[in-house]
Amino acid sequence: MTQIAEQITAVRQRIAAACAAAGRTAAEVELLAVTKTFGADAVRDAAAAGQVHFGENYLQEALDKQAELRDLDLIWHFLGPLQSNKTRAVAEHFHWAHSVDRLKVAQRLSEQRPPSLPPLQVCVQVNISGENSKSGCLPAEAPGLCRAVAALPRLRLRGLMAIPAPVPAGGDARAPYRALRSLQHSMDDLHPALDSLSAGMSDDLEAAIAEGATIVRIGTAIFGRRG
Ligand SMILES: *Cc1c(COP(=O)(O)O)cnc(C)c1O
Repeated sequence: MTQIAEQITAVRQRIAAACAAAGRTAAEVELLAVTKTFGADAVRDAAAAGQVHFGENYLQEALDKQAELRDLDLIWHFLGPLQSNKTRAVAEHFHWAHSVDRLKVAQRLSEQRPPSLPPLQVCVQVNISGENSKSGCLPAEAPGLCRAVAALPRLRLRGLMAIPAPVPAGGDARAPYRALRSLQHSMDDLHPALDSLSAGMSDDLEAAIAEGATIVRIGTAIFGRRG
């Protein structure tokens, strides 16, 4: 087994243990391998270990990697900041976008999604910790934005995504994820129902799963530290 394969196994065990502790089944949580700054070989090693979902933050880097990996049947998630000049490539080359945080970007993604592809799967990113430096809409804006995004024809809104600010040692790592989940629950009347919560990274996947995460985005714990 490669080291990447071993780390994937270890992360899957953490997910299973967190699910068991939360009274959930491991099948409810999708592992998204975040490969930013790592090369196509790392993706290949992970794919050989059965990994299917991959997340990328930097558009050009992602497109280069996808071109090298055309022979594999992978599901690509865009996680990075989304400006208008990136929407066309994301609409054409990704299955999911987790970082939609304003309507204009969502409208462009919908218009630019090729008719030959299924709708782009979308999460609305929420600035759950209220930091002014981070991307994401304000929690108070999320319901209105989600309703508008849900109405766009070529997008399929799946849920919310957040990257909380680091919680100080001894702090409650679950608090931001609890807030995210309750925000999502405030939209339980949306159709089709929101079924995804993109939450949790290498250091806090247990806290996120305890609060209902259905997609954990894991880089460092699989591929090591980014240079
Ligand atoms: C880099 C990144 C991750 C992975 O973080 P790790 O701490 O390395 O697991 C997850 N989500 C987003 C949006 C990222 O940019």
